[in-house]
Amino acid sequence: MTISPARIHVVSDPISDEHRSRGYHPERPERLGAARRGVALSGVEALDLAARDATDEDLERAHARAYLDELARLSGHHAALDADTYLAPRSVDAARRGAGGTIAMVEALLQDASVKSGAVLLRPPGHHATRDQGMGFCLLNNAAIGALWALDHGLSRVAIVDWDVHHGNGTQNILWNDPRALYISLHEAPLYPGSGAREEVGQKDGAGFTVNVPLSEGATDAVYQMAFEELILPVLGKFAPELVLISAGFDAHERDPLASMRLTAAGYAYMGAALARVAAASGRGRVGIVMEGGYDLTAIEVSLAATIQGVVRADSPRIEGEVSTTHRNEVAAAKAVAARWWPGI
Ligand SMILES: [Zn+2]
Repeated sequence: MTISPARIHVVSDPISDEHRSRGYHPERPERLGAARRGVALSGVEALDLAARDATDEDLERAHARAYLDELARLSGHHAALDADTYLAPRSVDAARRGAGGTIAMVEALLQDASVKSGAVLLRPPGHHATRDQGMGFCLLNNAAIGALWALDHGLSRVAIVDWDVHHGNGTQNILWNDPRALYISLHEAPLYPGSGAREEVGQKDGAGFTVNVPLSEGATDAVYQMAFEELILPVLGKFAPELVLISAGFDAHERDPLASMRLTAAGYAYMGAALARVAAASGRGRVGIVMEGGYDLTAIEVSLAATIQGVVRADSPRIEGEVSTTHRNEVAAAKAVAARWWPGI
C-alpha cells in the first residue's frame, strides 16, 4: 500500500505586498515572506491556488453596504480607518483579493476531497473587521466571508477557531446571531480590542455558538492544550463542523512583540493536529488556515510550519508542563459558561 504524500493548497498573491504603510507599521509585507518560508519549512507539498476577487455578493454576506461604499470611496488613496488601520492606494483591492482568496480555498476544499487542507497567506488580516467597520489592521473579515460562502454553498455547520492572541471582535460581531457558524476564540485578556469576555456567547438563534476563552498573560503550550482538551474539543465534537477554519494569528508566540503569551511551535502543532482530528470526525478532514496577526517574523515562520505539520499529520507530541492555578481557573470558568449551551462537555 502506498501512502499519498500530504499536500496543502496555498493561496498567495503579490497584491498583498501593495498594502504597505508609509511609515513603519508592524502589519507589514515582510510577514508574508516569513509565512511562505514557513510553508517551505513544513516540508509539506504546497499546491499553489490562485486567489480571486471577492464579489459584492460575497462581501455583503459579512459586511454592511454602507461600509463597503466607504471603502470604495477611500480606494486609490492613502487613508486611515483609525489610528491603527491604514489604507494604501491598493489596500482595498488587496483586501478584496484576500477575501476572494479565502473563498477560493474554501471552494477547493469542498470540491476536491484529495487535498484536505489549505492556507491563505494574504493581507490585510481580517478578524477585527466588524459588519460595519474596519479596525485593528483589518479591512474585510476573510474568515467570516469564507465561512458564510461555505454556508451558502451546501454546508450547514462551519467552525472558526481563532487562536490569534487578540479577540476576533469582528468575526464575533458578524456571526453573533448565526447558529450555523461556531466561533471559538482563545485570547489574552486584558488586551486589545477589549471584547471577548466569557459571557459573550451570541444572541437569538446564535446563543451558545460564540465561545470565548480569555486567558491572562503568560499562557503556555500546556495551558492552550488544557483549554482544548477541557472545553474546545468537546464543544467542537458536539457541534460536528463540516469545515474547520483557523483564524491563525501567530502573535501568541513567546517572541511576539505586541502580546505576552508564551506559545511555541509545539503548541501550534498541537492545536493544528487537534483541529485536524475534529475535521476528520465530522468534516471529511477539511481544515483551512487563514492568516491573521503575528508580528515577529521568526515566530510566524516556525509557527506556521508547525501548524501545517500538525494539520496534515493530525498528530503531534503530547505537551508536558505545569498549568498555573490562574489559567486552570480561567479555563474552568469558560467551560462553566459554555456548558450551559453544550451540556455534558
Ligand atoms: Zn492579533
